[in-house]
Amino acid sequence: MSVTKMTSELYCVNCEKNTIHEVLYVGDHIERITCLECETYLEIDENVVLSNYALDLWKRVRTKPERMTSEFKEDLSTFLCSMPMRVVTKPYRMVKEFKEIKDITKHSREV
Ligand SMILES: [Zn+2]
Repeated sequence: MSVTKMTSELYCVNCEKNTIHEVLYVGDHIERITCLECETYLEIDENVVLSNYALDLWKRVRTKPERMTSEFKEDLSTFLCSMPMRVVTKPYRMVKEFKEIKDITKHSREV
C-alpha cells in the first residue's frame, strides 16, 4: 500500500494553536495526523467517528485529495475540532515509552 505524507496547518488541541501537522495517508485513507510541534498524534478511530456527528465531514476528508486545497484544509480543521479528542489523542511519547517497556519485558524474559 502506498504511504503519502502531506503537511498542513491545522489546529492542535494540545498546543492550543494552529501548527504544522503531518497527515499520513496509507492507501487512500488517513492513517494518522501528527502535530510537528508537540508530536501529539491522532489516529482516527472510525468507530468514534461513525457514532459522531462529524461523520459527514469524515466522509469528505478521509480520502486522499489530489492536492491540499484550502477547502480541504478547512474541512479537515473543522473535522478535528469537532472530534472528541480525548478519545483519539495519543501522545506520541507515551506510546514510544510503552513500546520500550514492552521491549525490555520481552528482553528480560529471554534472559
Ligand atoms: Zn501540538
